[in-house]
Amino acid sequence: MIPDHDFDDYRQRRVLVMGLGSFGGGLGAVKFLVARGASVTVTDLRPLEKLSDSLAELKETPPARLVLGGHHKSDFREADLVVVNPAVKRDCPYLNAAIEAGVPTTSEMNLFWKWNRAPVVAVTGSNGKSTTTAMIHAILEKSVQAQGSARRVWLGGNIGTSLLPLVDQIQPSDLVVLELSSFQLCDLARLQVSPHVAVVTNFAANHLDWHPHLDHYRQAKQAILRWQTAQDVAVLNADDADVCGWPVRGERREFGLGCSGERGVYFQGGEAVIHLGGVEERWPLAEWLKLPGRHNIANALAAIAAATAVGADQRSVQAGIETYQPLPHRLQFVAEVAGRRFYNDSLATTPESAEVALAAFESPVVLLAGGYDKHVDLSGMAAAIARSAKAVSLMGQTAVPLRQGILLHEMRTCEVSLPQLSFELAFQWAIDHSAKGDVILLSPGCASYDWFRNFADRGAQFSERVRQYAVSNQQL
Ligand code: ADP
Repeated sequence: MIPDHDFDDYRQRRVLVMGLGSFGGGLGAVKFLVARGASVTVTDLRPLEKLSDSLAELKETPPARLVLGGHHKSDFREADLVVVNPAVKRDCPYLNAAIEAGVPTTSEMNLFWKWNRAPVVAVTGSNGKSTTTAMIHAILEKSVQAQGSARRVWLGGNIGTSLLPLVDQIQPSDLVVLELSSFQLCDLARLQVSPHVAVVTNFAANHLDWHPHLDHYRQAKQAILRWQTAQDVAVLNADDADVCGWPVRGERREFGLGCSGERGVYFQGGEAVIHLGGVEERWPLAEWLKLPGRHNIANALAAIAAATAVGADQRSVQAGIETYQPLPHRLQFVAEVAGRRFYNDSLATTPESAEVALAAFESPVVLLAGGYDKHVDLSGMAAAIARSAKAVSLMGQTAVPLRQGILLHEMRTCEVSLPQLSFELAFQWAIDHSAKGDVILLSPGCASYDWFRNFADRGAQFSERVRQYAVSNQQL
């Protein structure tokens, strides 16, 4: 394993930041390093025009040099440190040029971990990471408020906020809540660190275009538990046979919808049943939670198990869950137009997430699905669509395999489009195949990179088309 860098003083160091990224990581690294006196070069495959919004955020901490629209190996060989975007593949020739030249590499998250002094509660998993992370944060904020404490609870990581530029403000007595992707965990493994409270929401095949095989992806995720000690807490999904078997070094807590165990938070008859520390407690979770779908109950159970491990009580849990606002692009209600309710679930980038979204509605669902091909098995998603959608409009690279899978299904009740040529046509097809009372749901089950910049762009384009549909509908 390549070691992480070990110097602490960045003054006059030539640091190359590879990939500004779309979710704040690259920007966070630049802000932090420039503020600490490094001479930073930013290199990104995208040209200047596509990065203008990100670069505008660097006005106060401008990098010394920009190399945009491509990378140069010489920049990698001549740097003192390369900060790599977590999504860059490890066999990337530029990265190899740095490694061969003996240049150390790190990541924004590794830098944060190196400098952060507060205990960390972190969440990983294949689905439900952001929701669970944001719920834990919401509960812990209520908890510190209730204690009248000056402690702060910080939220960051893969959820889209880099805490690195703020790391000096984070006090040892504060709490940090992080969402960690498998890519970030791969990098963190080099530091051999795990959070004080680690949550694993679930595990299913994902990102197999990046990880060489499923076990590589599993091992990356397991890094969240690997370096815990007996004083730490591991929160695992009892309904997930894979995750249940993962080695745990800290205190084991479970959460589950479908079972009851000895130590954890379970769901029975609308209540969260808390089996922690001897006495059983029952909290009316179904009354508190406003989010649709059983998957969100699972996310809330995980959040309760984690937040109570760092001191949250029933009142803060209730207050946090009751006031929790759904994150954008996750089964987000957009509007009701002409009797059709539109939901944006653009963040459903895995087949399981599209399946849970479909299961969250009682009304007939006209689905927009498909996208970039991450080489994961789509047969379960195809079967769920065939059985439970009213109609499906198929988009992107995976339209063809999804269509085959759906048409093959014996119990098919759903109407299936041909692979659509554009998002505009896909949206129109969905409208044409819907009726009053239907839900029109964007829950692609695949990543967005073939037709869109990212999931947020896909969700925004969907919402914009809904708006246009509303306008044209008023004109009729
Ligand atoms: P992640 O951060 O892992 O991508 P999010 O919380 O952002 O997860 O949710 C993304 C989508 O995944 C949601 O829109 C929803 O469709 C689905 N989802 C959320 N929680 C779960 C879960 N526990 N199991 C399966 N799918 C889920």
